[in-house]
Amino acid sequence: MPSVSVDEYLEGLWVIRIETAQAASVKNVAKQLNITPPSVAQMFGKMRALGLIKYDKHSGADFTRKGKRRARHIVRSHRLMEKLLVDVVGVNLSKVEGPACGAEHYLPEEVADAICTYLKHPRECPHGEPIPKGKCCPQRKV
Ligand SMILES: [Zn+2]
Ligand SMILES: [Zn+2]
Repeated sequence: MPSVSVDEYLEGLWVIRIETAQAASVKNVAKQLNITPPSVAQMFGKMRALGLIKYDKHSGADFTRKGKRRARHIVRSHRLMEKLLVDVVGVNLSKVEGPACGAEHYLPEEVADAICTYLKHPRECPHGEPIPKGKCCPQRKV
C-alpha cells in the first residue's frame, strides 16, 4: 500500500487532472497543494518509481492505470466516509474532514463498496463534490 503522503498526492492529482482537467506540472501542483516545487518534484520521482504516474516535462504528471485506480479509491473513500458520518451517524459537517481524511487510506475497496451500497450509491459528498463510482454502483457517469 502506498504511503499516506503518496495517497494525498494521488488525491490532489485526481482533482487537478480528472475533475478540473488541468495540467499537473510541478508548478501547478505545488500551487494547488500549497507545497514547495522541490518537494513536488521529489514526490513525482517517488510516484514514478512506484508506477503510479508518468511524467513529461511539457505536459506534466498523469496517472498510470494503477495510479488512477488508487486515486479514484482514495477520493471515493474520503467522500463516502463524509457521507456516512454526516447522513447516518449525524456528525456535524465541520467535524468530518479529519476522520474522512484518515479513514481514506485504510478502507479496502470491498469496504468502500459496502458503505456505498448501504448509502444507495450516492453521487455526491455532503460538500457537493462528486463521488467516483465503484464496482458496486449501477452504470452512471462519473
Ligand atoms: Zn466532501
Ligand atoms: Zn456503489
